[in-house]
Amino acid sequence: MKFCSNCAQPVSLTIPAGDHLPRYVCGSCGTIHYQNPRIIAGCVIEHEGKILLCKRAIEPRLGFWTIPAGFMENGESVQQAAAREAMEEALAHVRIGSLLAIVNVMRVHQVHIMFRATLTDPAFGIGPESLESGLYAEEDIPWPEIAFLSTEFALRRYLDDRRLGREKLHFRDIDWRDGQVIMTDGHSQ
Ligand code: ZN
Repeated sequence: MKFCSNCAQPVSLTIPAGDHLPRYVCGSCGTIHYQNPRIIAGCVIEHEGKILLCKRAIEPRLGFWTIPAGFMENGESVQQAAAREAMEEALAHVRIGSLLAIVNVMRVHQVHIMFRATLTDPAFGIGPESLESGLYAEEDIPWPEIAFLSTEFALRRYLDDRRLGREKLHFRDIDWRDGQVIMTDGHSQ
């Protein structure tokens, strides 16, 4: 950030009085521009035992497979965001079910919130952000071509739980240190 979104004057990175982290502070109007993590909402959609996957038509990870997921918008619930992403990426009407996973992706300042979901209409398609979409049996999921670590986590926990006939909530932190991915799992609930 270089300029204040309030008055268009330059900002500088300083620790405001009473705070403990550097913030972008406007030298002109004094506005403190806080930056906080963003929420990605998504869902693992099952239909007749198969999982709906989309091949990404956009960067990052163009050409890799993912579950419908994307940035939450202001004015919607996280469940509505997950359902909207299913519609946008796979033209899929879904019923959002239980909470599946919360993944903290520290380096990119994101929290990924993933739900279980089912199709309410068997018809689906290919949204503008996707190259393909399809229903995949567990043994046909293209694991080496899954786009994101959080997607793989959600899919694996979903399938584990399904095998065990349960619906737990799973936690994972993904961080990068010295070029290494560090993954830490919390206790499932
Ligand atoms: Zn300003």
